[in-house]
Amino acid sequence: MKRVFLCKETAVGETRAALVPSDVKALDAMGYEIAVQSGAGLSIGHADDEYAAAGAKIAGTPQEGYQSADIVVRINKPEGPKGLAAGMLHISSFDVFNEKEAIGEFAAAGIGLVSLEMIPRTTLAQKMDIQSSQMSLAGYYAVLLAAARLPKILPMMTTPSGTISPAKIFIIGVGVAGLQAIATAKRLGARVEAFDTRPEVEEQVKSLGAKFIKIDLGQTGSTEQGYAKELTPEQIEIQRQAQAKICAGSDIVITTAKVFGRKAPLLLTKDMTAQMKPGSVIIDMAVKTGGNVEGSSPDGDVVLDNGVTIIGGDGLERFVPKDASDMFSGNIRAFLEHFWDDESKAFKIDFEDDIMRGCLITYGGKVVHGRCLKSVAG
Ligand code: NAD
Repeated sequence: MKRVFLCKETAVGETRAALVPSDVKALDAMGYEIAVQSGAGLSIGHADDEYAAAGAKIAGTPQEGYQSADIVVRINKPEGPKGLAAGMLHISSFDVFNEKEAIGEFAAAGIGLVSLEMIPRTTLAQKMDIQSSQMSLAGYYAVLLAAARLPKILPMMTTPSGTISPAKIFIIGVGVAGLQAIATAKRLGARVEAFDTRPEVEEQVKSLGAKFIKIDLGQTGSTEQGYAKELTPEQIEIQRQAQAKICAGSDIVITTAKVFGRKAPLLLTKDMTAQMKPGSVIIDMAVKTGGNVEGSSPDGDVVLDNGVTIIGGDGLERFVPKDASDMFSGNIRAFLEHFWDDESKAFKIDFEDDIMRGCLITYGGKVVHGRCLKSVAG
């Protein structure tokens, strides 16, 4: 397997490309043969010529690309396995917990499926981690978006006409996105408070100059992979009550709280948002996995009767597609380099490799990923 085809993205609102010319060049030098669908990089300013200069062949249509490919790469999951042939490997993000049917279709079609968001969160795999690379940018952009929508500035400003107090920002969930949101909000001069259920986060919040809100939820913690453990309904209720006053006093609330493979916890109820100040802005970055904020929508902004705006903050990295593509492409390149086999001079699926075991969902006509196997069967 060494013929790689980069597809042009078709999802509405998608602005990124899964490979950029500099990484095509590096993979080409390694021994991969790359083909690129015409126009795949246009949204980030890379014309077909640049890919060709990096060593890629240009395919006019997806079908043309599929015909001579062993491996297909793209950012978003495709509509289905149509056009792909048995024995091929498809690499993209896949949202495996919500796509049981599609996983079954890929298995039945004999296509190997790699879901990039399932790559383990280990030090070795960090350079392939699309969740980290994309969510850092999304966290940064969430603050810019909220700042642009807020009817006041973020920093304190003292002028002869008076002193403006800094905006108050509350960030709930301090993983990859939350940390970048804190750093960005601090740089812009806001007063920042944050909370996360993982106790180790307190030091990270403080090191960024923000205040960590302490809420006694009893037993919490994280999984081996570093993800938060799910709270009980009682713990969530305690959290809501403790957060209500802070939300009411905040100009911006950004929620990023997720529990891997499960529905996001509902942390801001209607009662809580009703207490917030007119003009306040909430960004719910967990909107796609159920939402942290009651009433948030992935389809657009919701303005409440009290003048609070709730923005469904899904896919915010798409607003900075240049950097998001560079990072995503670097992640794919690292993945392809890791599984390059010098002996056969090709990509080799190593079933003993923890990274491969973590992200290979289907292979050889079967669902091979333990956790997905259970959910497809169920
Ligand atoms: P995520 O997107 O699953 O969750 C975002 C944040 O929400 C997490 O910090 C989580 O603790 C928090 N959260 C969940 N429920 C909450 C609640 N009720 N209230 C408040 N916060 C809540 O996680 P992520 O951002 O992708 O990553 C989380 C962590 O994983 C990282 O901070 C890091 O420790 C670890 N990680 C490790 C590596 C590695 O290479 N070792 C790479 C990436 C991430």
